[in-house]
Amino acid sequence: MKKIIKILSIVMVLAIAVCSLASCGTDNAVTAEAGKADEATQANQAKSGDLIFGTNAEFPPFEYVSAAGVIDTFDGIDMQIAKKIAEDNGYTPKISNIEFDSLIISLQKGQIDAIIAGMTITEDRKESVDFSIPYYTATQVMIVKDGSEIKKAADMDGKTIAVVQGYTGETVVEKMGYEHVSFKKGTECIMELVNGKCDVVVIDSATAQKYVADNDGLVIVEDESAFENEEYGIAVKKGNTQLLDKINASIETMLANGTISSWAAQYTDNL
Ligand code: GLN
Repeated sequence: MKKIIKILSIVMVLAIAVCSLASCGTDNAVTAEAGKADEATQANQAKSGDLIFGTNAEFPPFEYVSAAGVIDTFDGIDMQIAKKIAEDNGYTPKISNIEFDSLIISLQKGQIDAIIAGMTITEDRKESVDFSIPYYTATQVMIVKDGSEIKKAADMDGKTIAVVQGYTGETVVEKMGYEHVSFKKGTECIMELVNGKCDVVVIDSATAQKYVADNDGLVIVEDESAFENEEYGIAVKKGNTQLLDKINASIETMLANGTISSWAAQYTDNL
């Protein structure tokens, strides 16, 4: 009997040792995967045939979750573009839905191949990623309650301003020197406005249109002299020219033959 117990305990110790060597924990497995992807993102795509786009599906009409999605349950202008880029180059499009603030770090770690997230091309971001040619021009706008005294950007001085953390709207308001409250999602900012807890939300134009269409009593205030045009680009890991060239070639064709503008019209008309 003692012998059996001894054998059993040896087997158990061996099992634990094997398990830890093979990284049985989920976290370890994820880290190992990320490491592998990091070493050979390009080789990975070629082998698996998947092109993994990171996005944050909280940004209609560019990306949002819908039962009838374009890629799995993800729909929107960016999802159409991502699908076309993948198909043009013989890949299967895959979406990884992560927080906007974590997209660049995930790209750098090789967990995703590209970012498509209505992401504005900025000098700051260019230090961490390489951007495609621009595919859409937007601007920041203000959303206020109908009848608000905010008629131009300068009127926001002293008001309660809500923005989304990590969005260019936050940067723009910071540069103007105004105090603001930051939220994780655009919809949270809108709830603050609807409930009278803030006076104005600063966010990208097309997304603002969607929120105004969805909520009675809200209007958009534009101020071209205060908010510069912003251009959206697809980001790849620094130096991944192989993928960037493919993405740029697809975007060029979609811009030239009107595909992107017809999707933009389709998705903004159906807000
Ligand atoms: N265009 C804005 C930015 O780049 C917002 C993008 C987004 O929310 N997906 O920060």
